[in-house]
Amino acid sequence: MKSNAVTSFELELDWTAQTILPIEFRGQEVQVEARAYQGTDPNFQAMVLVHRDKNAGNEVPIVRVHSGCVTGDIFHSLRCDCYPQLQAAMERILKSPVGVLVYLPYQEGRGIGLVNKIRAYALQDQGYDTVDANVAIGAPIEARDYDLAAHILFDLGYPEIRLLTNNPAKVEALREEGVEVTEQIPLIVKPSPYNKRYLATKKERMAHKL
Ligand SMILES: [Zn+2]
Repeated sequence: MKSNAVTSFELELDWTAQTILPIEFRGQEVQVEARAYQGTDPNFQAMVLVHRDKNAGNEVPIVRVHSGCVTGDIFHSLRCDCYPQLQAAMERILKSPVGVLVYLPYQEGRGIGLVNKIRAYALQDQGYDTVDANVAIGAPIEARDYDLAAHILFDLGYPEIRLLTNNPAKVEALREEGVEVTEQIPLIVKPSPYNKRYLATKKERMAHKL
């Protein structure tokens, strides 16, 4: 296993599996390499899609590390920008010679879980912004962890990446795990009337580059 020195837990190769997955993207069928990974805690499972051109060389891969969002990614909720970000990321990944999506379902609601996320939404309906709503329910504002994501990138043989994100904290977190982020590529998505405030809070209170 290609791993690095800064391991707080070890990924066992038994905990990975891979296959070829045909997917539909914007009306086109695309074949991607699909891998599943599990951390030491079985609740931490990740889905990885790798797109590699036949004639790809040693390009630094374009990578999206995407936190799962049931409401956004599956039901296309307009309260957050997860779905358009995922779509924009997939577009870049599939167009790049080497592109990787690391999907982390357990990072739901910035890591606070589905029930807490919906509770926070209910408070936002009463006027709280996303940060204050999390504080009010006693949940951390940001509980995401990029340990497993970093291990996966090492396992894939990609210690050096170009990261698709608007979030400087995500770049920092991956760097702290030993991943070399050579470039931060922004994902610009159009706000909807429902997520204007959510995006403004990300920008003003969480230092996102929007
Ligand atoms: Zn979302």
